[in-house]
Amino acid sequence: MSYDDNNIFAKILREEIPCNKIYEDKFILSFYDINPQKKIHALVIPKGKYTDLDDFSLNASPEEMVGLLKGINIVAKKLGISTEVGMGYRALANISEDGGQEVPHLHFHLFGGEKVGKMVE
Ligand code: 5GP
Repeated sequence: MSYDDNNIFAKILREEIPCNKIYEDKFILSFYDINPQKKIHALVIPKGKYTDLDDFSLNASPEEMVGLLKGINIVAKKLGISTEVGMGYRALANISEDGGQEVPHLHFHLFGGEKVGKMVE
């Protein structure tokens, strides 16, 4: 699937629509999900134009890959849910239609702030 420049996260990255920002650096943007499923529900997206995790794994640079993984930890720390402070969370990426992905720009969901329960309910 080719990247759709009009997807909602592309618009957020271009600041055409607002978000409740948590963190931003050269590689990632993180903001709160508009429809939270847990007490804390954040999204972490790469700044590059990648539709999903497979696209990212195949085409992102090593720097972008490190930036995204490190970014997830930075955001978790900012939210107070990382293992460094004795907490924990779920990081989840839906991949394409069969994986339940709705927005076609790679994103990780971070769920936390409470026991997040079974992986598939
Ligand atoms: P997916 O199903 O693609 O893995 O998740 C997409 C997520 O994006 C959903 O959890 C949905 O609530 C969130 N979302 C959709 N539109 C917006 C938006 O305009 N702003 C924010 N902050 N989140 C959004």
